[in-house]
Amino acid sequence: MNNGEGPVVKLVAHCRRCGGWLLSASSVAEGIGPTCAVHERAEHRAAAALTLFDTNEPIELTLFDTAA
Ligand SMILES: [Zn+2]
Repeated sequence: MNNGEGPVVKLVAHCRRCGGWLLSASSVAEGIGPTCAVHERAEHRAAAALTLFDTNEPIELTLFDTAA
């Protein structure tokens, strides 16, 4: 049997942003602390703007072709 005798498995993890301990179940599920989640959301918004210029779609170089 293993009623309280075995190792206690706790839902703990490190925040992926600051590396701090996550102790709440919701934070562990998200992998980030609530404060860092706010910061990360803001950073994602900024990164999303940059991603617009970093797509996998081929960029048409028509402007350069016609300029040549
Ligand atoms: Zn954090």
